[in-house]
Amino acid sequence: MATYSEEDYLMLSGIQHFAFCRRQWALAHIENQWNDNYLTIAGQNLHHKTDDPYISETRGEKFIVRAMPVHSREYGLTGVCDVVEFKKDNNGTQVFGKSGKYVPIPIEYKHGKEKTNHSDELQLLGEAVCLEEMLFCHIDYGYLYYGKTRHRKKIEFTLALRQELNQTVLEMHSYWQRKYTPRVKPSQKCKSCSLRDICLPELLNRESVNEYIERRLSE
Ligand code: SF4
Repeated sequence: MATYSEEDYLMLSGIQHFAFCRRQWALAHIENQWNDNYLTIAGQNLHHKTDDPYISETRGEKFIVRAMPVHSREYGLTGVCDVVEFKKDNNGTQVFGKSGKYVPIPIEYKHGKEKTNHSDELQLLGEAVCLEEMLFCHIDYGYLYYGKTRHRKKIEFTLALRQELNQTVLEMHSYWQRKYTPRVKPSQKCKSCSLRDICLPELLNRESVNEYIERRLSE
């Protein structure tokens, strides 16, 4: 099985950007440009509630770990899980310092409401495959919590979703290795895009950067 080296690990949080728009992900993660807008700031505020590293709470047959760093050599991914709930289960895995066996359940917090695409599900599964690799276990499901609707949704990690994640991550690594930023494809989602002012979809859709520079030089 091929594995990625640490310098090629990609951020788990980038999966949702990539699923939203390939160009947005490349601008933020390859070209390191980021432009906070309302949606990303609100998302960060929600995350701060859970970013309390390593705090563990025990509640009956389960315990909770917040802001847990994770990685996967197989997928070349790294990041932080908002919350991981370890549930006592004889089919689970042993956890250092705890008696019995546990299954880890990732829980990801999101600002706003459910999206119409799979981006949140893919990120959550990305966290799960990291946990599976690190803890030698299998995880059947996780939860997405939406701040706006205060709703917790169970996500089953089906074979189809796993195949979609595999394909998505392969594509991300291909862009990363080529340092490739796709050209603009304006769509409805540009209206809520945090990188709109950097991407300039109206301008760049009409001409390439080189064409733009040549035109300005000849003016
Ligand atoms: S403005 Fe549109 S094309 Fe540009 S990065 Fe954002 S979503 Fe993608």
